[in-house]
Amino acid sequence: LMGCTAQDVVAALRAGAEIVAAHREELIRLDREIGDADHGENMDRGFRAVVSKVDTAAPETPGAVLKMVATVLISTVGGASGPLYGTAFLRAAAAVGDAAELDGPAVAAALKAGMEGVAARGKAVTGDKTMIDALSPAVDAAKAAADAGEGPVKVLSVAAEAAHVGAQATEPLVARKGRASYLGERSAGHIDPGARSTALLLSAFSEAARG
Ligand code: ADP
Ligand code: MG
Ligand code: MG
Repeated sequence: LMGCTAQDVVAALRAGAEIVAAHREELIRLDREIGDADHGENMDRGFRAVVSKVDTAAPETPGAVLKMVATVLISTVGGASGPLYGTAFLRAAAAVGDAAELDGPAVAAALKAGMEGVAARGKAVTGDKTMIDALSPAVDAAKAAADAGEGPVKVLSVAAEAAHVGAQATEPLVARKGRASYLGERSAGHIDPGARSTALLLSAFSEAARG
């Protein structure tokens, strides 16, 4: 079977924690420009907690791991992004159910459910200069790859690439949601920190899946 197991999801989360730690200062700087300079701290704290949690209790299915991540992120990240990322992982967990392994379509469906969770909770649409601008193209790319019969490794790699393009494309946008929206036109000219962290996480998940 060419699927992602619970162990693979745990490995992806460790890689996610590493990339967030490595880019902590960058995320702080991005959030200093159009927010309150805490996004790097928030994400680093959250993903460190995720790693500690999986070290003590590693659930048996991908869905159970994702649900645990949601709980940890909701209780440790704080800010706007904590509940949003928490909802994303919770919805992704629900989408994969109790499957033992995730194939390409399951990974694509999990990403889509995660994005829909963020959209439902944060009421942001594409172009509002939020993490949705990284997630939405990632979901589309993932679906296209899954529909073409690709497995989870390829699905994640095209999703990560699309997320990076989407995050980069937030630079000229004027924010319409979150703290950055308080700046109005002055929010233009900066990459959205949440879109950047989403792209970084997907890269880490993709690299981990590649093995
Ligand atoms: P806070 O703004 O509370 O300090 P963070 O700095 O951790 O929280 O996260 C900020 C990021 O959260 C933004 O860069 C943006 O991507 C995301 N965000 C904020 N509000 C929304 C929303 N309503 N919908 C989607 N994403 C949002
Ligand atoms: Mg902030
Ligand atoms: Mg804050």
